[in-house]
Amino acid sequence: MGNFDVIVVGAGTAGSYASYLLAKAGGLNVALIEMKGKDRVFKTTGDAIGIHHIERMAIKPPSDVFMIKYEGAELFSPDLSIKYVVLGKGFGLDMAKWARWLISEAERAGAHIFDNHKVQGPIIESGMVSGGVRVLKPDGSTEEFRARVVIDASGVGAVVRSRLPREWWVSEPLLPEDVSNAYREIIQVDYDIEKPEFIKIYLDANIAPGGYWWLFPKSRNIMNIGLGLWGGKLSEEQGLNPRHNYDKYLANSQYTRGGRKIIHVGGGIVPTRRPLPSLVANGFLAAGDAAVTVNPVHGGGIGPALLSAELASKTVLEAFEKGDFTERGGYGGTILSI
Ligand SMILES: Cc1cc2nc3c(=O)[nH]c(=O)nc-3n(C[C@H](O)[C@H](O)[C@H](O)COP(=O)(O)OP(=O)(O)OC[C@H]3O[C@@H](n4cnc5c(N)ncnc54)[C@H](O)[C@@H]3O)c2cc1C
Repeated sequence: MGNFDVIVVGAGTAGSYASYLLAKAGGLNVALIEMKGKDRVFKTTGDAIGIHHIERMAIKPPSDVFMIKYEGAELFSPDLSIKYVVLGKGFGLDMAKWARWLISEAERAGAHIFDNHKVQGPIIESGMVSGGVRVLKPDGSTEEFRARVVIDASGVGAVVRSRLPREWWVSEPLLPEDVSNAYREIIQVDYDIEKPEFIKIYLDANIAPGGYWWLFPKSRNIMNIGLGLWGGKLSEEQGLNPRHNYDKYLANSQYTRGGRKIIHVGGGIVPTRRPLPSLVANGFLAAGDAAVTVNPVHGGGIGPALLSAELASKTVLEAFEKGDFTERGGYGGTILSI
């Protein structure tokens, strides 16, 4: 089963889009390996994306992946007395439909999807990742998948990148202060949300120290509401946890007045640090959260996942043209840092 041109690890936004681009443009033999079932791929997020990221895509998403169109963001001071309005169009995504659509486009372009397959780590031979990856299959057995290039798009856990030799620049580990810890709920409320065409960001050092809390409308009475705390010293010392702060400050607040019908709950880690020193190594590239491409100012990472997938796939195509998959040669130094 296991010989490919490119292995892409993770069928989230970055991995599915990179697989689509590579299979489509290069006619390459691409394996997209995902640990979840392909109909169950879903990322817990605030679901918001700027329109410029969508417009840049090589394929047009179907309208049903968008739940709402935004006109901009309202930013509130801690005592709510000051509000800045930042204009800029965007969308609230249906993340389940978004993931299914991207995976189906990758598959249609010719990528081989291996869902319910869990990558365990890289196989390194002669200083290259070109050995491929070790994969745990649905039947419990393991197999080596081999390729000239591996793209790690496995999200913040970075299952391949984090297992590369520490002296390789790309493998720099994430420290607690490099991330934000986030929790959010999608809820239905019994009143009309004010100006649902604007996402709302609240700066409040009690509710979300080192971060912010948000209310992103998904319709007139459905919202994605949550918060992200900086994972650094303050949170560590005070044992802060975004779920606790959500329950304490937001769950029964004026924003959820009249009670809330919970549609979905979840949280996650957002890698909000400075860029890694390198995004490539011999036979290896990282994209999306695995490459820490999130915009650290606001924590938006869906658009950067698309952009880094685009740059990674261009770089891989270049490497195949040159027949050189080394860090310096094949990638020409073009994306040593995005
Ligand atoms: C609570 C929260 C709110 C957020 N809000 C926003 C927002 O509103 N807007 C925004 O732009 N960004 C937001 N972000 C950030 C954004 O969600 C991420 O930056 C983006 O989704 C990253 O996409 P990705 O493809 O890199 O990774 P992921 O979407 O995490 O995809 C990684 C994939 O790899 C798979 N995988 C993992 N390990 C393995 C393995 N060992 N083997 C095989 N497969 C594996 C996973 O199952 C997953 O499908 C938020 C994040 C969080 C946690």
